[in-house]
Amino acid sequence: MVMLPNAPLDLVERLPAAVLVIAGRRFVYANPSALAFMQAENPSELIGREVFEFLHPLDAPRILARIRRAVSSTNRTNPPTEYRVYTCRGEMRVIGMTSTSYNYRGEAGLLACFIDLTERSQLETHLRATEEQFQRMMNTMQDVFYRTDAEGITRYVCPAVQQVLGYTAEEIIGKPAADFYPHPSDREQLKQAIMAQGFVRDFPGQMRRKDGQIIDISISSTILLDEEGKFAGVEGIWRDITERRNLERELERRATTDELTGIANRRTILETLGSAFERYQRKHRPLVVLILDLDFFKRINDDYGHVAGDRLLKAIVHAIQQEIRTIDHFGRLGGEEFIIVLEDTPRDSATAIAERILDRVRHTAFDLALAQPVHITLSIGATAALPTDRHPTHLLEHADAALYAAKEGGRDQLRWHTPPVSAVLA
Ligand code: GH3
Ligand code: MG
Ligand code: MG
Repeated sequence: MVMLPNAPLDLVERLPAAVLVIAGRRFVYANPSALAFMQAENPSELIGREVFEFLHPLDAPRILARIRRAVSSTNRTNPPTEYRVYTCRGEMRVIGMTSTSYNYRGEAGLLACFIDLTERSQLETHLRATEEQFQRMMNTMQDVFYRTDAEGITRYVCPAVQQVLGYTAEEIIGKPAADFYPHPSDREQLKQAIMAQGFVRDFPGQMRRKDGQIIDISISSTILLDEEGKFAGVEGIWRDITERRNLERELERRATTDELTGIANRRTILETLGSAFERYQRKHRPLVVLILDLDFFKRINDDYGHVAGDRLLKAIVHAIQQEIRTIDHFGRLGGEEFIIVLEDTPRDSATAIAERILDRVRHTAFDLALAQPVHITLSIGATAALPTDRHPTHLLEHADAALYAAKEGGRDQLRWHTPPVSAVLA
C-alpha cells in the first residue's frame, strides 16, 4: 500500500467519496467507498490489477494519456471527466472522476476521486444503447477490430479474432501485438507507416495462428493521439486474406512459369534477361547468354509420340538443372528451345557449364517408360555481352547465330558467337 504524502490515511478511509491511487498502470490503493462501488468483495480483486481490465475500451486511451503525462509533470490536476468502467462483477457504470497526476518517488501515477454518475437516467439510456450497439457490432464483425497502446500492447480485440487466429480475445489482450506476428519487425513497419501518414489502408501483413499456421492479412488502421497530440496507440481493423493471396500467388505462378517443365516461361525469362542486361550496363560484370536446342527432337515425337516427347522435355530440363547454379536463370523460349542467362560469369566458366550440360545430356539414358531408354543430344549457341550491345535482343540474335553454327557444325556441341574485331576493341 502506498503512503500518501502528508495525508492522514484513516480520514481517507472514512471518506464517503471513492478514492483511488494508480501507480504504473495498476491500482495500488482503493478506499472502502471505492471498493464498495467497484463491487470488490475483497481488496485483492482490485489492488494490484491493471486499470485497463476495468475500463471501457473506448475510454481507456484517455486514462492512459493521463498516466503517461504524470511521468513528466507532477501534481497536475486533470479536468473532471466521465469514464465508463466495469465493476469486479462485470457491471458497467459511469463515473465522474477528478484526478491529479503525480510522480511519487519516481513512480508515475494518478490520485483519483470519483462519484457515481450511472443514475443520470437520460445519459444512461443513451449510453446503454451505444454500448449495446458497440458490443453487437464487435460480436458480429467478420473483420477483427483492435486497439493497441503506445507500447504496442493489445488493449482491445473483438471476439471475431478467435475464428481467424484461434486465440480468444482474452488470450491476446494485454500482450504485445508483435507476439502474434511471424516476423516481429513487420509490426514495426506497420507502425512506421501509420506514424508517417496517420493511417494505413489495406496494408499487407502476416500473422501466426494458434496452430502455428501463417495467415495473410490486410490492415486498415488509424493513429490514436492523446489530448496533447502525442502518440497513444493504434486502432483499426484487419482481415484474413489468405485465400485471396493464395489465389494471387497461384495466378502469378501460372503467369510466370512454363506449364510443362515448371521453369520460367518465355515472357519471364526475357524480362529476366532484360534486367540482367541493365545490371551488365551499370556494373560491367561479365554476362553470358546460352541458347539450347535439342537435336532432331522431331524424330522423338515421330518415333515415340508426343507424350513421350513431353516426358523427355521434362527430363532434360531436370538434367540441365543439375549442371547450373541456383543463381543462373533458366527458361523455356518455346518448343524444345531453352535459354540460360549467366550473370557475373566469365567466358571460360560459361564454357565449362555449357560443356557439362552437353556431356550430361549426351551420356544420359532417358527413361520415358518406353521399351528402351532414349538418348538425345543438344546444341548450344553462346554469346558474351559487349559494350557495343545496345539491347538484350542483340544477345539473343548473337546466341541464335552461334546455335545455327553449332547445328551446321554437326550438332551436340557448343559454339560461341564471334563478334567483329571493332566490337571487341570498343
Ligand atoms: P534440329 O536438330 O535441327 O533442332 O532438329 P529438330 O527436329 O529438333 O528441330 P525442329 O525445329 O525441326 O523440330 C522441333 C520439334 O519439336 C517440332 C515439334 O514437333 C517439337 N516440339 C515443339 N514443342 C514441343 C512440345 O511442347 N512437346 C513435344 N512433344 N514436342 C514439341
Ligand atoms: Mg531442335
Ligand atoms: Mg528448335
